[in-house]
Amino acid sequence: MQYKELGKTGLRVSIIGFGASPLGNEFGTITAADCERAVRTAIDDGINFFDVSPYYGRTVAEARLGQALAGHREKVVLSTKCGRYDAFDFSATRVARSIDESLTRLRTDYVDLLLAHDIEFGGREQIIHETLPAMRILQKEGKVRSIGVSGLPLKMLADVAQRADIDVVLSYCHFNLLARDLDEYLTPVVQARGIGLINASPLHMRLLSTSGPPPWHPAPDIVRWKGAAAVALMERLGLNPIEVALRFCLNHPYVSSTLVGMSNANEVKENIKALDFKLPADLMDELDHVTAPVHSVTWPSGRPENNDV
Ligand code: NAD
Repeated sequence: MQYKELGKTGLRVSIIGFGASPLGNEFGTITAADCERAVRTAIDDGINFFDVSPYYGRTVAEARLGQALAGHREKVVLSTKCGRYDAFDFSATRVARSIDESLTRLRTDYVDLLLAHDIEFGGREQIIHETLPAMRILQKEGKVRSIGVSGLPLKMLADVAQRADIDVVLSYCHFNLLARDLDEYLTPVVQARGIGLINASPLHMRLLSTSGPPPWHPAPDIVRWKGAAAVALMERLGLNPIEVALRFCLNHPYVSSTLVGMSNANEVKENIKALDFKLPADLMDELDHVTAPVHSVTWPSGRPENNDV
């Protein structure tokens, strides 16, 4: 495993991170035993970065991750979120209550990173002037080590990174075999400010796997078709689409960790193989030929004024 500094946080994270949304049954029901084995296998294989949220499985993922990490907390860099629940609430009072609830479920007294979850669903000025300052107070209290934001629309993430005092940005579905616009809007801003960058959903939330997307997947049809075509091409060439998709993301020069959601130990084992995989020289030309029409295609998320679409 390789590790990278996460911006100026002082945290060193594994370049493959464990996305814990599947632990909340977000991609289909899994058992507590699967969760435990997946998390333990990940730790054994050198993954030290775990990302969760109270929203995933409406607290189920945090509780399961807390249980699986019992006795291993000090080996890992733990990230959770605030602001997204059944409804959104980015108020300072909810942020303060949220971290205490998360710490209880996660069975720890601090997290390494706290992210405001899907900020495009909140008011931009509230995020900057109320939510993030409330999160800084938690840092002073020792409950969180660093703070940041997550979300889909790149222009809003870039604007908040430019104007607010944050340590980390988590972006998803903007840098992988299908989506390529991360570096156009966000990377230059966070890099210039020394803000850590996490890239999530290297499989485009399963569009780039042979199992195909979950029913709730928000991508427009053209993205689904191009995802299926890319998977078919890789299989025709005798390549494992997962290894190719992950390796492509791991090659990003500034991203510190690529967060992939994992449901069981077999997926962890398979994903770890991407570390030793080299992208064949002419493969990207062929893949780009298939996927180029959707490299900048995203979908609406959050309030209209915060949207890129
Ligand atoms: P992803 O692209 O990582 O896909 C996850 C899906 O792929 C799951 O169904 C998983 O079981 C499956 N998968 C993983 N490895 C596999 C393998 N080897 N073979 C077959 N299937 C495999 O999408 P994601 O889970 O949405 O993103 C990763 C993580 O990033 C999330 O779990 C979460 O922690 C984080 N994230 C955060 C936000 C946010 O803050 N707004 C948004 C998206 C993702």
